[in-house]
Amino acid sequence: HAKRRGKNHHQLFDSTMRPVDECQFQLEMDLRRAIDRQEFCLYYQPIVCLHRGTITGFESLVRWKTEGDRVISPGKFIPLAEVTGLIVTIGEWVIDEACRQIKEWQTDGLWLDSLYVNVNVAGRQFSQAGLVDIIIQSLQRHHLAPSYFQVEITEGLMMENLDSVVRQLCQLQELGVNLCIDDFGTGHSSLSRLQLFPIDTLKIDRSFIPLHSQVEKDWELVKSIVNLGHSLSMRVVAEGVETVEQQQKLQELGCDYGQGYLFAKPLEQEAARELLYQLKIKN
Ligand code: C2E
Ligand code: MG
Ligand code: MG
Ligand code: MG
Repeated sequence: HAKRRGKNHHQLFDSTMRPVDECQFQLEMDLRRAIDRQEFCLYYQPIVCLHRGTITGFESLVRWKTEGDRVISPGKFIPLAEVTGLIVTIGEWVIDEACRQIKEWQTDGLWLDSLYVNVNVAGRQFSQAGLVDIIIQSLQRHHLAPSYFQVEITEGLMMENLDSVVRQLCQLQELGVNLCIDDFGTGHSSLSRLQLFPIDTLKIDRSFIPLHSQVEKDWELVKSIVNLGHSLSMRVVAEGVETVEQQQKLQELGCDYGQGYLFAKPLEQEAARELLYQLKIKN
């Protein structure tokens, strides 16, 4: 391990080999072992209806819990999982685990028919054989209505193998699985392609949402994205809502849903369960 070798470890590399490559390699090995040992878990972050102020669903967000109970966030390993293709295996687990969790909540009488769980699906997973079948099988295995399950894709997907991707997305839609476009505005999506895709929800990336500004001009971009979504008959979700000012402004602009630390952080399954229980009592 580079660190243990101390200060001189750089001597082991020639100029074309950077230590970072060794780190990546180590991380890949650790990731493979984590898959074998099933060290992943899902957190759930509420998505809130801005108009009514109630929870309408959750986004599932993967975490890697290492032996020592260290929690590693997806930003640290998903990019490498994508490059190495390990995301295919992790992604399959994520799909099935989200379904298992919904079923558990349903069996325990905590689920409401209008709720859903969003699952992030990487572009790479669409080039895997049988992604749609994997989703169908998980839904069937856990006896779930497809409307409980939503898929989040990113704009990058729109620039890939168009026919194949559109075909799979249409299959999912026909099945009754809703599709969301995630981090909207940060990637390279062409607006003409946005229309080609059977997407029903647009998630505005949090980088577009001003933190404290009440200045009208700072909100113009958000306003146009909300209107774009609505003109394409999509529901619009704002990501990263952290302040009351943001909540109020988004509501004023007609944004449908919000997700962010203001409402709740991504929750461990027990905490999400507790929230569902509270929701149940209120209903
Ligand atoms: P994302 O899909 O855009 O998920 C939203 C991210 O924003 C989450 O980070 C969430 O914790 C964070 N977030 C939510 N509210 C706030 C807020 O108010 N302020 C701030 N600053 N951040 C907020 P997280 O959980 O670290 O996930 C990062 C990214 O990793 C996700 O971005 C997604 O692209 C990817 N990811 C997570 N889980 C999965 C998965 O199961 N499969 C795949 N393929 N990617 C995943
Ligand atoms: Mg997402
Ligand atoms: Mg997002
Ligand atoms: Mg994001």
